[in-house]
Amino acid sequence: MTTQPLPEHPDFLWRNPEPRSSYDVIIVGAGGHGLATAYYLAKNHGITNVAVLEKGWLAGGNMARNTTIIRSNYLLDESAAMYEHALGLWERLPEELEYDFLFSQRGVLNLAHTLQDVREGVRRVGANRLNGVDAQWLTPDEVAEVCPILNVSPDTRYPVLGATFQPRAGIAKHDHVAWALARRADELGVDLIQGCEVTGFVKDGDRVVGVETNRGRILAGRVGLAAAGHSSVLAEMAGFRLPVQSHPLQALVSELHEPVHPTVVMSNHVHVYVSQAHKGELVMGAGVDAYNGYGQRGSFHVIEHQMAAAVELFPVFARAHVLRTWGGIVDVTPDASPIIGATPVENLYVNCGWGTGGFKATPAAGWTFAHTIATGEPHPLNAPFALERFTTGALIDEHGAAAVAH
Ligand SMILES: Cc1cc2nc3c(=O)[nH]c(=O)nc-3n(C[C@H](O)[C@H](O)[C@H](O)COP(=O)(O)OP(=O)(O)OC[C@H]3O[C@@H](n4cnc5c(N)ncnc54)[C@H](O)[C@@H]3O)c2cc1C
Repeated sequence: MTTQPLPEHPDFLWRNPEPRSSYDVIIVGAGGHGLATAYYLAKNHGITNVAVLEKGWLAGGNMARNTTIIRSNYLLDESAAMYEHALGLWERLPEELEYDFLFSQRGVLNLAHTLQDVREGVRRVGANRLNGVDAQWLTPDEVAEVCPILNVSPDTRYPVLGATFQPRAGIAKHDHVAWALARRADELGVDLIQGCEVTGFVKDGDRVVGVETNRGRILAGRVGLAAAGHSSVLAEMAGFRLPVQSHPLQALVSELHEPVHPTVVMSNHVHVYVSQAHKGELVMGAGVDAYNGYGQRGSFHVIEHQMAAAVELFPVFARAHVLRTWGGIVDVTPDASPIIGATPVENLYVNCGWGTGGFKATPAAGWTFAHTIATGEPHPLNAPFALERFTTGALIDEHGAAAVAH
């Protein structure tokens, strides 16, 4: 693989051009999805008169805060197709973007602790295989072979009864993914504009023709929202409602350790997921805080429960120390599946509702959202994820079907 490292502070991070008066396409939000959308608009569709507007700094939202788990072992056909497309893109993106962002296919275990977990896991392995997704069912002894530091003894509160295993799943270094996408989008002519908050929409009847920002009015042929956690706020500004709720979502890391954890372990039942970053931190995440909010921080009791679960599964972690905790703000739909498609406002498109699991989807979200914006029609992969499903009832009910949702 030919790769070339990015400099410590890539030039485009600081360039921050003045917005032009108009663009063919404006993307709101320079997280992973916004950057991937801009990259694929330019690369797949030749549309380069594009601005990505970011109210903070480039990829400083959930893209900077997630625990980087990448997998495609979802139960339902529509989700498996989307996430498997993403995994295929992850496998070729380091070479395509000429940047090794440490995509490590170290496998993901989804643990089963109850008979119901076992039934769900075995069913999901079958469904995955039918969809061409690599998946295995492992016994507790086989689980221990994959992850020797995991406690598979029958004496724990929730013994490990088995696990699904996806060998092609893994992790990547999220900030470098963002920079790699941003660098290539920048090279293709996209304007990445930071400190530029969208505060309203310019409309001509039912059609959006631009946005109001803290840096002035910018006109646009089409506008795409990729503002995870804030989608409903933007939708309201544009005059329609989205079925999403914003929740805090937290994670933490330990101080650095020698490599001890060879894979990624997720447990829905005791609710924690753990990997070890390339630098050596143990990376642990939990579920969303139950209340709505935009604070990018969560409650201490969530972290406490997450740590208790981690120590139960990995007794060796009792000696580790927390280095830092943080929170992001994610938007969640009623069926725990994303929305990608047109909105009731002409020329305004939305990509939202990825909840706790949108990092792994980054390239496929960008690929399909760019297609939708460029052609005005959904890509076959995102057609089932349209907003209309909440009125037709054709929900993609991954809630509870996809193990821990990350
Ligand atoms: C703690 C945590 C752990 C997670 N773990 C995983 C995981 O292991 N695997 C996984 O697949 N997913 C995970 N996720 C979810 C994943 O991070 C998100 O689903 C995904 O990052 C959302 O897409 P994005 O990267 O584009 O979002 P973001 O990076 O949040 O980008 C949205 C951007 O929009 C900007 N914005 C908002 N409003 C405006 C406005 N008015 N004007 C201009 N800009 C605006 C924001 O500042 C932000 O930068 C996790 C999330 C968190 C918080």
